[in-house]
Amino acid sequence: MTLTKTVAFSKKSANLFFHILTKCNLKCRHCYINPAQHGKDTLPLATIKAWLEAFAPDSGSKNLIFLGGEPTLHPDLPAAVQHARRLGFGSITIDTNGFLFHDILSKVTPEDVDYFSFSLDGATRETNDRIRGNGSYAACLDGIRRAIDRGFTTSLIYTVSSANIQELAMMPDLLDKLGVDRFFIQVIGLRGKSALAQNASDIHKSPQVSRSQWLDTVSRAAQMIADRDIIVTYPKVFLGPEEKFECAGIVADNYFVFPNGRVYRCPLCEDFPIHSLCFQENQLVPTAKLNEQDFFQLDIPEGCVMNKMIQPHNISCDEKGRPEYKIACCLLKEEIITR
Ligand code: SF4
Ligand code: SF4
Repeated sequence: MTLTKTVAFSKKSANLFFHILTKCNLKCRHCYINPAQHGKDTLPLATIKAWLEAFAPDSGSKNLIFLGGEPTLHPDLPAAVQHARRLGFGSITIDTNGFLFHDILSKVTPEDVDYFSFSLDGATRETNDRIRGNGSYAACLDGIRRAIDRGFTTSLIYTVSSANIQELAMMPDLLDKLGVDRFFIQVIGLRGKSALAQNASDIHKSPQVSRSQWLDTVSRAAQMIADRDIIVTYPKVFLGPEEKFECAGIVADNYFVFPNGRVYRCPLCEDFPIHSLCFQENQLVPTAKLNEQDFFQLDIPEGCVMNKMIQPHNISCDEKGRPEYKIACCLLKEEIITR
């Protein structure tokens, strides 16, 4: 059976995460968009096309993901999608919070878009709406149903935090009922609003879950969901002593493009002006050093260098000060396919 392609979190994979605007109708508690670092622009269609063309060499090997903000707020998203299809990208995904503005489902077809990927952060309305805002649960479920009715393939992204990890075990029934094809589990990172909240409060209020909670819950829930014939992708986060650490900045090919022209290779770098590429007059050019690429080369016992810098409290050490485990790269994940 041939699987429809979408974003891939594996070694050697290539993904282009294209934020075409930063505007959004929601105000999620953990939103990673940081206007001071990413700008507030909505890119004109001509710029979107020019920037897509900059990535067109080897486009067949790249998965393209349109994001925002909420990308369906961009009135030219259908034209951008169709241009990307002509350029031959390996797959095209639209990430959405479910509100599906500008009647997007009737302006693109399943031939144009490989996946509509929805975000939901709770199995119940109460939990999801506490994190993502009132009405977001109903809009997301309704959006998924409407997309499937129109023949689109769908996936769901669930960002695990201390506010919703308890509902992960309820997701198999919901996903099954909805008919979602793939499920992506993400770990909440201290980026954007979460980083601001963390700085303003104390460590005990962290949205991040403990290592024991993560290990007790996530892989088991992933397997329960995969047993329903849904493809599941999840991060290990905490590597065991026998597991090899690798940095996607070295072993994969990811690009995170923002409307202010910054292009990062690692999402954990996005709160800082350390992007390794940028657009100047629609040409993709390298930035001056030091930048994120210099960090990828560092080999430290804690694993991910950026994790050590921005969220060091999730590493514990033995009595000699040696880290007890490594933190995995957030771009390299496990995938379970049972079908
Ligand atoms: S839907 Fe996405 S972009 Fe919008 S507020 Fe939520 S996390 Fe941020
Ligand atoms: S998250 Fe860490 S390991 Fe992954 S690309 Fe960034 S710096 Fe490298």
